[in-house]
Amino acid sequence: MSVKGRIHSFESCGTVDGPGIRFVVFMQGCPFKCMFCHNPDTWDYNGGSEYTVDEVVSKIKKYLPYLKASGGGVTVTGGEPLMQIDFIIELFKELKKLNVHTAIDTNGYAGPKARNLNSLMELTDLVLMSIKHINSHAHQKLTGFSNHNTLEFAKFLDEIGKPLWIRYVVIPGFTDDFLSLFNLKQFINGLKNVENVEILPFHKQGEKKWKKLKLPYNLDKAAVPSKFAISKAKKLLKNESEEKV
Ligand code: SF4
Repeated sequence: MSVKGRIHSFESCGTVDGPGIRFVVFMQGCPFKCMFCHNPDTWDYNGGSEYTVDEVVSKIKKYLPYLKASGGGVTVTGGEPLMQIDFIIELFKELKKLNVHTAIDTNGYAGPKARNLNSLMELTDLVLMSIKHINSHAHQKLTGFSNHNTLEFAKFLDEIGKPLWIRYVVIPGFTDDFLSLFNLKQFINGLKNVENVEILPFHKQGEKKWKKLKLPYNLDKAAVPSKFAISKAKKLLKNESEEKV
């Protein structure tokens, strides 16, 4: 019997989850409960709908010419994709037969000891990893879990030479202080496989979903980051020159 995946949704022409135009698969289920999550409807492991690998591949096939012409491919995100690792392995096996670039976007929760991780990495071209906070206590406050597994996962990817893009959400008063940015930069400097660091501004577009799900949204009073705050984070984490704002 072929393995099925529980999937929240699909995006056929994504432009923010890896290089080029991407077909994005949003897996259902996430162990984290990030305070700033804009997709809390992906948390429930029983939500979404079940799909076979063949069903997903046939959706992707329609877009292959666009994906390939743009230097893009397929990104599996979530929720947390590594909670359904067996499905993704089977999906990526099929995609590799079609010569498609594959990426996963993970919070790193599963850590380097995740079952079948090596098999998945053999089929994965790029990992996008969101580091929610470099300070473990602050990470716990933001997500419900320490950052231990995430940081160990990043180190493991470095050891195997897997290309890595780091993603970091700037939330004023939570993740934008100098020490946090400096310590994150030190961590990134210790890795040789980081090809890109993406700075993502916090936004409140998910607030309505929290309310719909009757979840307490604790960032309603938090500000969105100013251009200056984003510029400062970029300068520290990406060595970009500060914009005049
Ligand atoms: S890891 Fe992603 S999907 Fe999970 S709670 Fe955090 S932001 Fe939401």
